[in-house]
Amino acid sequence: MISGFTLAQAPTTDMWMLRRQLLEHVTTIRTVTLSTMVNGLLSAAVLYNLLTAWQILSGFVFLAALCGWRYYIARQITNNSNMEQTWSEISLPLSISAAMLGTFWGAVSGIMAIAGNVEHQIFAAVIGAGMMSAGAIIYRTLKTPADLYILCCVPGCMIGLLWQGHGAAFAAAGLLISYTFVLLRNVKQNCEQFIVSNNRERELAKSSDTIHLLLNDFTEQGSDWLIELEPGERIVNTSARFAAAASRQMETMDGKRFPNLFDEGPERDRLEEHLQSRRAFRSHVVSLCIDGDRRWWSISARPINEDGIVYRGVITDITVQRKAEERVSYMAHYDALTNLPNRFLFTDTVARALGSDEKSAGLLYLDLDNFKAINDTLGHSVGDQLLQSVARRLEHCISGAETIARLGGDEFAILVPAKRVGDISEIAEGIIKSLSTPFSLNDHDVVVGVSVGIALAPDHATDVESLVRSADLALYAAKSLGRNRAVNFEAGMDEAAQMRRLIELDLRSALGKQEMCLHYQPLINVESGETSGYEALIRWEHPERGIVMPSTFIPIAEETGLIVQLGEWVIRQALNDMAQWPNELSVSVNLSPVQMRSPTLISTMLHTLAQTGVNPARVCLEITESVLMQDSEANIETLHKLRGLGVQIALDDFGTGYSSLNYLRSFPFSKIKIDRCFISEIDSREDCRAIVRSVVTLANNLGMTTTAEGVETAEQLSRLRIEGCSEVQGYLYSHAVPVEELSDLRRPKQSPTLHLVQMEDARRLLECKKNSEEKQLFSSAPLRLAVRD
Ligand code: C2E
Ligand code: CA
Ligand code: CA
Repeated sequence: MISGFTLAQAPTTDMWMLRRQLLEHVTTIRTVTLSTMVNGLLSAAVLYNLLTAWQILSGFVFLAALCGWRYYIARQITNNSNMEQTWSEISLPLSISAAMLGTFWGAVSGIMAIAGNVEHQIFAAVIGAGMMSAGAIIYRTLKTPADLYILCCVPGCMIGLLWQGHGAAFAAAGLLISYTFVLLRNVKQNCEQFIVSNNRERELAKSSDTIHLLLNDFTEQGSDWLIELEPGERIVNTSARFAAAASRQMETMDGKRFPNLFDEGPERDRLEEHLQSRRAFRSHVVSLCIDGDRRWWSISARPINEDGIVYRGVITDITVQRKAEERVSYMAHYDALTNLPNRFLFTDTVARALGSDEKSAGLLYLDLDNFKAINDTLGHSVGDQLLQSVARRLEHCISGAETIARLGGDEFAILVPAKRVGDISEIAEGIIKSLSTPFSLNDHDVVVGVSVGIALAPDHATDVESLVRSADLALYAAKSLGRNRAVNFEAGMDEAAQMRRLIELDLRSALGKQEMCLHYQPLINVESGETSGYEALIRWEHPERGIVMPSTFIPIAEETGLIVQLGEWVIRQALNDMAQWPNELSVSVNLSPVQMRSPTLISTMLHTLAQTGVNPARVCLEITESVLMQDSEANIETLHKLRGLGVQIALDDFGTGYSSLNYLRSFPFSKIKIDRCFISEIDSREDCRAIVRSVVTLANNLGMTTTAEGVETAEQLSRLRIEGCSEVQGYLYSHAVPVEELSDLRRPKQSPTLHLVQMEDARRLLECKKNSEEKQLFSSAPLRLAVRD
């Protein structure tokens, strides 16, 4: 055993590589053995005269034994599968045999050179150099045996050359040394190259194994499927998972035309085009129906030419992703509450309609009346239900050619296509009628109205923005005209809107600039013909516009919330004015529904009553039916508090809006003011007379008085007298006039003592307020203020 003997194959022996190296060596072993034996025979022939037959024979037998040994080792390599064990058995014999063979050929060459003549020396040089090179070839993948072979060959050859003793021989010896180095280096490089290239091969094999494994895994377990198609786009090699995904039997899949799996349509046509063009394509999405469920598959494939397969591709089921995308897109285009298109989608639809060949369309712009109040009182949940119910009713009002959208809040819009534009007014009327029927929500009967603005393209506008703006202006006009109606856009509306904005600006500073004043219109007792009191009607003395009537600015004040401030000013002014009037005269003050929601209304009333010292019974607050419709519970509670202060409450404009005699039962009004629309035609229309009659009868039964508004003629007055109306108001007697022009005022003669009583009452009232005894005040009988008798 040669201790410390190591081979080139590294301390950590790579058995796979070693096997390759050995097998490479083995591949040429037969040829090499044969040629070695031939070389042996030739050498024997050349040495024939130089050595004895016995010497030649024993040399030849020795060579044959060495070749046989080497051949035996080679057989061990090829026959043994356990490389580790083989290697431990052959590594030493392999090297020793190589060294011996090298030594043998060195010796043959040396003997010939020393003992022979020039001819022998030529043969010696050829056989020496040739066999050295042969060693480098035979052991090209095994560095140690190769090195041993070469190095052991050198001494024999070298001695042969040096023995000659002449210059050429010495030069040849030099050549031999360099030749040896070249060969050793060549062997080293060969071995390294062999290892590198085999390593690369091994890596490739490994990765192709991995790919194979992955592909199998991909086909059997992954979320995607591989498909293979043969000519005619027919499916082949269907995997179990792919068949399951398509919800079909595996056997029935092979041979099926792949595109036929999918829904007919442009996407399937494009898939056909892709496949027929034999080009690669990526992420082509097609839909298909699987067990009644719509699914989307994304297909990527490329053409191949392998075992009759023309396409190979991957399918990914993107249904979940697709549905999520659709949901997002739906949310971006539809209103979640009503499922109607939203403003974004609607604008787009209008733009498309205007961009179409007809370039004609109609737009209905809708805004619910009273929605805010319903939402505030009954809660957002009822508000939401109401919007949903409104959406469903609107859908019933249209033919299907129209598009309804919810633009936000309580605003809706309807696009009427060109062919239906002629019916646009009818559609609007139908909507108003439909929405005027009360909605039953959560045990509440809710009444909403709707105001509609109508604009037409191309008559009023040619682009989306202007059309929407025109419809919006028409809507605003509809609201100003008293709501629950449809108004067509007119050219002047633009200016009106401009004007409205200016008014809004001026209104903010009007009170501070003391531009507001009150005019008073007398209320006449029918029986006595005397003035029983005055209704305070606000006027705005605008420095440039002159007198501005309330119908112009009250709606703006209501919208902007300025009405609260304005209303409080009216209360203070009216009570201050009337404090100067005779005791038998009352004052009526109009209260806006917006004011009813103001938390300062009661305290303002209380303070003003206390400060002015007027008898609350002489003050009448006029409210309209809308107050009872909206926030009814909260408003009725406020009305009771006001009644608790001792003031009168009148129901104004009775008969307009959503009149219902039921409102009369919801609160104990002091008085009903019958709207002038019934009075103006009382002479000519029996139905008007009948209405007035029943209102008067009902009021009498409920202990209320009646005031007829807008009495302009003596005929109207006599009719009202016949019907039993207790009070009238109208131009027949007087327009509303400034306080200075009130002719029938008798200046009160105020005694100083009474004035003191008044002051004391005011102080007591304020104290009550301060001690938060309001509740007590309201729940007890009407507070009795000291009055000037
Ligand atoms: P209203 O409460 O119904 O007031 C009666 C309106 O009818 C007044 O119009 C009055 O001038 C008018 N009028 C009176 N007699 C006749 C008549 O014989 N024929 C005709 N055609 N009209 C008559 P005005 O002053 O323009 O007020 C309009 C509305 O403005 C009022 O209607 C009221 O709702 C509101 N308003 C007026 N002042 C105030 C106020 O201080 N606060 C609030 N919140 N609203 C007010
Ligand atoms: Ca009034
Ligand atoms: Ca009125």
